[in-house]
Amino acid sequence: MAEKKDYYEILGVSRNATQDEIKKAYRKLARQYHPDLNPNNRKEAEEKFKEITEAYQVLSDPEKRKIYDQFGHAGLSGAGYQDFGKQYSYQEIDLEDILGDLDEIFGGFFGGRKRSSRQGRRRESYYTPENGADIYQTVTISLEDAYYGTTLELEVPRYVICEACGGTGVKPGSESKVCPTCGGTGEIFQNLGFLRVSQTCPKCGGKGVIEESCEVCNGRGLVIKKETVKVRVPPGVDNGSKLRVPGKGHSGRFGGVPGDLWITINVKPHYLFERRGDNLYLKVNLSVAEAIEGTTLEVPLITGKTEKVEIRPGIQPGDKVRLYGKGMPRLKQSGYGDLVLDINVVIPSIKDLSKDTKKCIDKLKEEQKITNRFSKPEV
Ligand SMILES: [Zn+2]
Ligand SMILES: [Zn+2]
Repeated sequence: MAEKKDYYEILGVSRNATQDEIKKAYRKLARQYHPDLNPNNRKEAEEKFKEITEAYQVLSDPEKRKIYDQFGHAGLSGAGYQDFGKQYSYQEIDLEDILGDLDEIFGGFFGGRKRSSRQGRRRESYYTPENGADIYQTVTISLEDAYYGTTLELEVPRYVICEACGGTGVKPGSESKVCPTCGGTGEIFQNLGFLRVSQTCPKCGGKGVIEESCEVCNGRGLVIKKETVKVRVPPGVDNGSKLRVPGKGHSGRFGGVPGDLWITINVKPHYLFERRGDNLYLKVNLSVAEAIEGTTLEVPLITGKTEKVEIRPGIQPGDKVRLYGKGMPRLKQSGYGDLVLDINVVIPSIKDLSKDTKKCIDKLKEEQKITNRFSKPEV
């Protein structure tokens, strides 16, 4: 079994993070990796989601956190807290719970619903605009797609303006009444000794009027909707590349601007090529005879085509043959990286050779003398 990762590392918080910081970190990651929010990358998201949830379960519980701090993962299983991850499935964590936490998306439900003018009669003026939050998704593509670029059609669940109420959160056709608690001022006063303290009216949330909530959005003004978003992926994207789609995050409320959609690209490992930056690496196995005599090879390229390559006589294992411009497109400048052939020589064992060949080897032994048996390795 793979060694378990450190819970603090998973959540990206320091070892002396406060409960609040831990909760915030978890919420942010949960929103990023909830499988329902990653329909295009479900499996990876589910793994990641389990991991962060397990970390959160431990670090958000003071008792478990204390055990973990002192004794690590072993301490938790010793205390009978094993198999968190297995007990937990993302279905138990409601999408609404994460997405639906408008308080956190918009930075305070009532805090944001202040009326901008005391005399404001028009509905729009009850609220200050709130900008929509960004949405994060991860998408896995093939190395070929990273080479040519591609267009993704992503399913993105996002908060959009409720059509039924036009985003006001008020039931269409309902009449608003003056709030009986504050008498329409949106404020209530409390006498603390000789101090008079004003407070936002809890009954109407500072609006001064009581309105019937829209039944479609429960008064939020926003509803969750799955939308298909087309995203153009440029040639040359690498693992971890981030693409921004402006305005495709959550819609704003009360006239606020929408957030952005951020796509993190995950490039699947290729069965043949290894990528390092803009270069591709390919291991080439030569027979002893080929290495001695040299040869011509048809080398496969990432494009699916092949390229004739001359291998010089006497090439050594570990030698590199560079095919200029046959690597990945450069993302930030024009041109391409290289394809680097990593030469390997497959050496047979004497017991697998025929009698005739063994004689040849004896001859070779006489002819090939090693003059520099030991030398400093090249780094
Ligand atoms: Zn509505
Ligand atoms: Zn009121």
